[in-house]
Amino acid sequence: MARVVKGDTVLVVAGNDRGKTGKVLAVFPGAERVLVEGVNFVKRHTRPSQQNPQGGIVEREAPIHLSNAMLYCSKCGRGTRVRHTTLGDGTRTRVCAHCAEVIEKPRS
Ligand SMILES: [Zn+2]
Repeated sequence: MARVVKGDTVLVVAGNDRGKTGKVLAVFPGAERVLVEGVNFVKRHTRPSQQNPQGGIVEREAPIHLSNAMLYCSKCGRGTRVRHTTLGDGTRTRVCAHCAEVIEKPRS
């Protein structure tokens, strides 16, 4: 499993939104970027569309680089590195590098 997957909570460690946590809305593995809820808002100048008949300036989240986000461990209460281990039954899982807590794959 990738370090960060959709549905995870991550901590932003660089940029204007440093210190914020948010839910991962999408992962772009090729670009090593993640889209995080409520983080890195940019103003988009959009044309009128069916969904937005007025068009104009809309604030949307933009993806941030994976290196600027850390997986957030709710047990430690901080961002952490991720370690991969294999459980007794052979399933691969992610664990917190600090407290060794298993970080569940988010159900979505
Ligand atoms: Zn932890």
